[in-house]
Amino acid sequence: MVSIEEARRLVLRECFPLPEVKLPLIDAVGHVATRDISAGADVPPFDNSAMDGYALRAEDTEPASPGSPALLNVVEVIAAGDVSNRVIGPGEAAKIMTGAPLPSGADAVVPWEEVEEGEGYLRVASPLRPGTHVRPAGEDLHAGDVVISAGERMGPAQMGVAASMGRQEVWVHRFPRVAVLATGSELVEPGGRPAPGQIFDSNSYTALAQCRELGISADRLGIAADDFEKTLAAMRQGLSYDVLITSGGVSVGEFDFVKEAQEELGVERRLWGVAMKPGRPLAFGVRGRTLVFGVPGNPGAAMISFELFIRPALLRMMGHARVVRPVRRAVLAEDFVNQGDRTRVLRVIVRREGEGLRAYSAGGQGSGVLTTMARANALVFIPVDGGGRKKGEEAECVVFGEELLEP
Ligand code: AMP
Ligand code: MG
Repeated sequence: MVSIEEARRLVLRECFPLPEVKLPLIDAVGHVATRDISAGADVPPFDNSAMDGYALRAEDTEPASPGSPALLNVVEVIAAGDVSNRVIGPGEAAKIMTGAPLPSGADAVVPWEEVEEGEGYLRVASPLRPGTHVRPAGEDLHAGDVVISAGERMGPAQMGVAASMGRQEVWVHRFPRVAVLATGSELVEPGGRPAPGQIFDSNSYTALAQCRELGISADRLGIAADDFEKTLAAMRQGLSYDVLITSGGVSVGEFDFVKEAQEELGVERRLWGVAMKPGRPLAFGVRGRTLVFGVPGNPGAAMISFELFIRPALLRMMGHARVVRPVRRAVLAEDFVNQGDRTRVLRVIVRREGEGLRAYSAGGQGSGVLTTMARANALVFIPVDGGGRKKGEEAECVVFGEELLEP
């Protein structure tokens, strides 16, 4: 048995960013860029109006006042997408729409609602400064600026920036291909009819969803009964993936075949057993380029194992530099005992209270209990020393549900 930190180190030692691929822009969302992207031209490419109004020469409005407004001759209308080849001369103005290029000669825009127009004349009652309501070329970006750096995640804004530069494709790390297999003769697909002694498979769904939260669509390999040959056959299919996750069948029970199947398939074991509760049984190894994780069957334990070990591995493969959530400290709102020889990992609700964080148990902590995980937004770690931690003492935690933090 190794510590949680050591287990994560052993896992991450086997993880590398996956090769780069060129993806159509919309498919790149959530991927990490592998190359800097610089602007090929200014954005916006030309001076344009920030308002629906009138483009004019600011100096023409210098003497204007409500008692003696400047009178300007409206000589044309410029819509967004139009280009005017007329020069706005002294005493002239052009009606202009938001986003339309500013005509030459003009250096300011007065919004519609601030002027009066009648019989081709415009009345401007107060002076404008040059540049008023004009968006200058290059306001957002200058040609040559690095706008997306290698290592940056392509979020919605990055997608928009790439699109605004006319990009159709971007170079990114490909996503890991992940296979998820549930093992257990007692398991039935949701929607099916459990016979006496059977239960529904939930681990496949939690694992798929934990992948989906990273943007990855994992494949389900279904359910393998507790039979060596069947487990072997199902796991073999998973070896064509970057990551194979199995749940269950990894303890020391009489019908637990996952470890044996890993060995039979040539998986080189890198880790067996983590000093944490729940989640001790974790059989991790590599076969060729495939990472093989055997997580425990108990649903609470399976989710915690994913959170602590598989999530960082996937993030590393996706090309992220930061793969582990920041460790914070929270004051415990109740006593949490630990009489055992493994770190207790508790599913808690952490709230911001006063200056710091406060952790409340999210419910029953049995390794099979999933509803506690549904309520929790964080995990708290209670070390082995001293029999636990008392109410009011601090412990380390990782928060995975930021939005639940406020009371
Ligand atoms: P195992 O690790 O196979 O010994 O399973 C431990 C416990 O988790 C048993 O009570 C199983 O019935 C349960 N379990 C295993 N796999 C799943 C699953 N995919 N969904 C829900 N419960 C499961
Ligand atoms: Mg089982």
